[in-house]
Amino acid sequence: MAVKVCVNGFGTIGRRVADAVNLQSDMNVLGVVKTKPDYKAQIALKKGIKVYAATPEGVKDFENAKVDISGTLTDLLKDADIVIDTTPGGVGHKNKEIYKKSGLNTIFEGGEKATVADVSFVAQCNFEEAVGAKYIRCVSCNTTGLCRTLNALDRAFGVKRARATLIRRAADPDDVKRGPIDAIVPDPTSLPSHHGPDVNTVLKDLPITTVAFKVPTTYMHIHAISATLKKPATQEDVVAAFDEATRVMLVSKADGIASTAHLFDYARDLNRPRADLYEICIWRESVAMVDDEVYYIQAVHQEADVIPENIDAVRASLKLMEAEESIKATNTALDIM
Ligand code: NAD
Repeated sequence: MAVKVCVNGFGTIGRRVADAVNLQSDMNVLGVVKTKPDYKAQIALKKGIKVYAATPEGVKDFENAKVDISGTLTDLLKDADIVIDTTPGGVGHKNKEIYKKSGLNTIFEGGEKATVADVSFVAQCNFEEAVGAKYIRCVSCNTTGLCRTLNALDRAFGVKRARATLIRRAADPDDVKRGPIDAIVPDPTSLPSHHGPDVNTVLKDLPITTVAFKVPTTYMHIHAISATLKKPATQEDVVAAFDEATRVMLVSKADGIASTAHLFDYARDLNRPRADLYEICIWRESVAMVDDEVYYIQAVHQEADVIPENIDAVRASLKLMEAEESIKATNTALDIM
């Protein structure tokens, strides 16, 4: 029988997670939890997804707006098999008490501190560590991107030390509160940034330092990465290692993909829902070896790369499949290249 999933929080990540869950053959969304009866709740209902109010006090707002609700979070938890908490960073931590009472395994997102969960998770890096874990945290979009490609290098050649500069979108496309900005903002100004330590919650022994900037754009982050390798490698060897890694895609300026704007256009032409790119995109031409150091540039679609991880985290937590089988099933359902 398909696993019944409660998705608590239905914004940028929650809406994508819910759609992705419903594309799998071994799980279904039992309901999503909303604080407001807005267009997002209305679209969920249109898609046949049941909507629940976050609190009993909020029920009236849905009734007044004539948006059909099936109960509250507490009702939904009684019938669910697992929770995916996609509320804003920090809210998940507070919600944990509610989940504890329900006894349900829970998947958290990267906005929560690592201490919220037993395991910080990127499927292709540490699926086994998360098998049977009650609480799993899918790490942030940036950490997921760094882990996927550095893990590919580490497995093939060993990584002595990595350094990354992150150029981050200032806000998501619908986030009018945080954007637009007209500035390049060192974020944070105290270096190194928190992204390196966050990578170490998954790749524990990989020395890495990071710096990060916010820039006025809404689609994708860019990472400029260099890594000192333990074993000798040529540019071709490194390209082959990236080519072999799942959820990593080599793109090329020679094919006309020279910017995040082209990646957006490409994703739309692929008919990807919401122009989502689940894959970390590495520019083939950027991969360069200087002595024992490799350089490369990658693009991360912040709204999309963590979505497959959430699906695999459910399977790991509930011991539904082994790593390879789960990653393959998720990739097939989401049409990941
Ligand atoms: P979001 O603000 O787009 O969506 C969160 C939703 O939860 C909103 O609709 C909000 O109204 C709702 N909400 C707030 N309090 C709630 C409550 N108590 N109960 C139920 N719903 C509640 O946020 P998001 O971007 O989807 O981020 C969710 C999580 O995913 C965060 O931990 C974030 O750090 C992480 N994440 C975000 C991105 C990204 O680029 N947006 C990428 C990777 C990970």
